[in-house]
Amino acid sequence: MNPIKDSILIKIKRLMRKLLRGLLYAFAVYVIVIAIVVWVSGDDDYDGQLHDFVVNDITELNPIPMANVVAPRSVADIVRAIQTSSGPISIGGGRFSMGGQTAIDNGLQLDMRDYDQIVSFDSGNREITVQSGISWRELQEYIDPHDLSVKIMQTYANFSVGGSLSVNVHGRYIGHGPVISSVKAIQLVLADGSVVAASRDENPELLFAAVGGYGGIGVITEVTLELAVNEKVGRQTQTMPITEYREHFAANIRDNDQVVFHNADIYPPDFEKMRDVSWYVTDEALTIEDRMIAADDSYWLLPKMINFSNSGGFGKWARSSIIDPLYYSSDRVAWRNWEASYDVRELGEGDRSEKTWVLQEYFIPVENFDSFVPKMREIFLEYEVDVVNVSIRHALPDPESYLSWARNEVFAFVIYHSQGTTGEDRQNVGIWTRKMIDAIISENGAYYLPYQLHATGEQFHAAYPNADKYFAVKGEVDPDNRFRNKLWEKYYPTKRSQIREYLDSLEGYKKGEEQTFLTLPEWYLVFNPNEYADFLERGNNPSDFPFFASIDEFWTLYDRVTVLTDGLYPENSEYQLMLWVIGISTTAEFVAKGAYENTIGRFTRWTASEGTPEDLLIQEGHRAYAELINYEAWYKFPFSEYAGRIWSDTPFFGENFIRKLERKLMFTGEFGFKSVYAKLIGFGAETAYEESDGLVTMHIIADPDGLSAVDSAINVLRDFGDGDLIVTVPRWGGFTAVMPKLAAVGVQFVEISGNDEIVMTTIEGKDVKAGPAKARFLFNSMVISPAEMKRSVYIVRVEDLSESLNSLVRNGSKLEHVFDF
Ligand SMILES: Cc1cc2nc3c(=O)[nH]c(=O)nc-3n(C[C@H](O)[C@H](O)[C@H](O)COP(=O)(O)OP(=O)(O)OC[C@H]3O[C@@H](n4cnc5c(N)ncnc54)[C@H](O)[C@@H]3O)c2cc1C
Repeated sequence: MNPIKDSILIKIKRLMRKLLRGLLYAFAVYVIVIAIVVWVSGDDDYDGQLHDFVVNDITELNPIPMANVVAPRSVADIVRAIQTSSGPISIGGGRFSMGGQTAIDNGLQLDMRDYDQIVSFDSGNREITVQSGISWRELQEYIDPHDLSVKIMQTYANFSVGGSLSVNVHGRYIGHGPVISSVKAIQLVLADGSVVAASRDENPELLFAAVGGYGGIGVITEVTLELAVNEKVGRQTQTMPITEYREHFAANIRDNDQVVFHNADIYPPDFEKMRDVSWYVTDEALTIEDRMIAADDSYWLLPKMINFSNSGGFGKWARSSIIDPLYYSSDRVAWRNWEASYDVRELGEGDRSEKTWVLQEYFIPVENFDSFVPKMREIFLEYEVDVVNVSIRHALPDPESYLSWARNEVFAFVIYHSQGTTGEDRQNVGIWTRKMIDAIISENGAYYLPYQLHATGEQFHAAYPNADKYFAVKGEVDPDNRFRNKLWEKYYPTKRSQIREYLDSLEGYKKGEEQTFLTLPEWYLVFNPNEYADFLERGNNPSDFPFFASIDEFWTLYDRVTVLTDGLYPENSEYQLMLWVIGISTTAEFVAKGAYENTIGRFTRWTASEGTPEDLLIQEGHRAYAELINYEAWYKFPFSEYAGRIWSDTPFFGENFIRKLERKLMFTGEFGFKSVYAKLIGFGAETAYEESDGLVTMHIIADPDGLSAVDSAINVLRDFGDGDLIVTVPRWGGFTAVMPKLAAVGVQFVEISGNDEIVMTTIEGKDVKAGPAKARFLFNSMVISPAEMKRSVYIVRVEDLSESLNSLVRNGSKLEHVFDF
C-alpha cells in the first residue's frame, strides 16, 4: 500500500477519463457540425430538366427524350410533320407498350391521341371507320347506344385503335384470332407523305405489314372495323388442376359459340391450379344495370386485392383460397360492353420508382400447352420471379399479318409480374425472359413484342420467321428508315442493328447514361484540388482558400445532377452511395481544414514574415496530388512519402520557426491521415472505384488508317467498313485529352459506352457568353482559382460532340473535361 502512489494513480485515471470524455464530446460535436454543414450545403431549389419532351410508358421504365412531340388533328398535319422534319419519326397511341415502341431518342413523336374522331358509321352493316388515335372507350361510347360492341379488343379500353392494330392485339374472345380479322381496311400516310388505302383487295401487303407492324411502315390514319352485337353475358367460373385445363377447354369452351369471353388464371406460386372465368350469352336478368363501367370508376377494391395477393406467399395463398372464391361466389350478368370497358387503373396506380409491374406474353401452340407449363414453372421458381398472375387466353391462327404471333392456333400466357427498377434488376429480368423465350421457341411458339426488349436478334427471328417479308415492305415504302422506335432500332436489320448486336455482346460496354452526370460531383474533387494547387502556386495564403464554399459546391453539383437524372434513368444506388461516401469524407476534411487554417494556420502565417520552405513543399505535394488524380484514383497517391519529405527536405530550424513547425505538423497530420485512409479505401476500391487503366469503348465514323497518328492510345476493336469503327480510348483525363484530337481530324462520334449523350465542362472568362456549338447549357459551377473564370456544364448529343469540341477554339472556352461515364 502506498497512499501517495495510489492517489496519483487515481488522479491520472480521472484525468484520462476526463480527457477521453472530452475527446468523445469533441468528436460528437465534430460529427454534428459535419451533419449540419452537409444539411445546409447544396442547391435544394434547383429544378432544371434535361429535356423538353420525355416520352414514357405505364411501367415508367422507358423514359425516352424526344426532340419534338407533335399532336396531329388531321391527315394534313401528319403529312406536314413528316415533310417538314428530317430525322426519325415514332408514333404514339395510348403509349401503353412497355419497351420504347413509341419513341426513339431525339426523334419526332406523332402523338395520335387527339386524332380521335369517328369518320363514318353504318350500324346496319355493323361497320365503323375511325381516326386511329381514338381509344376503344371512346369508340364504345359512340356505338353502345346502337347496341353494338367492338368485335376484338384487349381487356382494357384505354388503348388506341391505331396502337392496337399496330400490335395486332387479342382479347379474351372465343372463336377469334388477333384483331386483324376484324379490320376491313386502313388508310396510311407513308414516309414520302403519300396517303394510301390498304385492304385485302388493295395494297394487301401494306395491310399485312402495318397491322402488327409497330409503327414501322407508316402512320395508320383511318381504320374500318367490323363490329359485333352488344349482348347480355353471364359469368361462370370453376377451378381445376392445370393438367386438366387443355381437355376442359377443348371440350367446353373452344367450339362453344355461347362463350364470348374466356380466360383462365394460373395461380402462383405453384402454378398447379387454374380458374376458368368465362362469360356466356344469356337471357337472364342483369345483375349489373350499367351499360358500361363508369369512366371515372375509382376501382378501389381490385388494386388492393392485387396488391395484397402480391404481398408474398400468404397473399398468394389467400388469393387462391379465400379472395377469389369470395370474389367469384356471386353470379354476374352484364352487358358485353360493360365487361369490355375496364380501365387500366383497375391494376392500381402508385409509385413505381423502385418497383414496377410489367407484362410479358408468350404464345404456345395449343397442343404444346402441357409441355410448356413445366418449363415456365421451372424458370419462375429458379429465378424467383414475383409473378402476380398468369392469365391464359386463346386465339385462332392469323395467316395474314407478316409479324403474326399466331401462326398456329395458340394459347396466350399473359404474365403479370413485378420487378425492381435498377439496372441490375432489369438485367436479371432480361436473363430469365430470354430463358422463357428459348422455352417458347423450343415449343414452336412466339413471344409478344409490345413489352420489354429483352429478346436477342436471333430469338426475334426464330419467333417471327416471316419478319423478312415485313422488312421487304418497309425497305420499299420507308427506304430512309424514318419510322423508327426502340423496337425497330433493335431488330430492323440495318448495319446499325448489326453494330448494335456486336456492341451489346461486349461485356461491360454499356455504362448507365446517368453516370456522365453523376461523375460531375466526383470530378469536382479533382477540379478542386487543382484549383487549390493553383491557388497556392499564386502565393496565396492557404487560410484564404474557400473550404466551406468548396463543400457547398460539391453538394450543389450533387443536388443538381440528382435532380437532372431522377426519374429519367434507373436508380444507380451504388454510384449514389459512392458520392455520399466521398462527399461526407470531403466535408469532414474541409470542415477540419477550414477551421484549422482560419485559426491556427492564420495565426502562424501572421507570425511569419514570408513563405517558408515547408509552404513550398506543401504546395508541391498538392500539385503532384492534383496531377495524379486526373489519371489515377486518389488513393494511389504516395501521401506518406510527402509526409516524410516535409521532415527530410526542409531544415528543422530556421527563420519563421513557429510557422515552419506548425506547417510540418499540420502537413504530417493531413497527409499521414490520408495515407492510412487511402490504404483502407484502396482495399475496398473494387466496389467503389473502377480501375483507372480501364478503357472507354465507342462507335465512331473515321478513316481507320489515320487514327494511330492522332493518338497511339486509340485501338480499333472492330472495323464494320465504310468508316464505321468500334474503338477503345483511355478513360478519365486521357479521354478528355484524346476526344478533341479526334474531333479535330473530323471523326464523328456515334455512341460512347452505349450512350448518345455526354456531359462536358468548359472553363472560360466570366464575360464569355457564347457556348460550344450544339451543346445544351445546364448550369455554371464555381471556379475558385482563378476567380475571374467560370465553369460551364453542358450536355451534348454524342453525334454533335465533334462539332461542339471543334467550336470551342472559336468561342474562347477551354475544354475542362468530357465525362466518360
Ligand atoms: C395493362 C395492359 C394490359 C394489356 N392487355 C392486353 C391484352 O389483353 N391483349 C393484348 O393483345 N395486348 C394487351 N396489352 C398490350 C397492348 O395491347 C399494347 O401495348 C398496345 O399497343 C397498347 O395500345 P396503345 O394505343 O397504348 O399503343 P402504343 O403503345 O401507343 O403503340 C404501340 C405500337 O403501335 C404503334 N402505333 C400506335 N399508333 C399508331 C398509328 N396510328 N399508326 C402506326 N403505328 C402506330 C406505335 O408506334 C407502337 O409501335 C396490354 C398492355 C397493358 C399495359
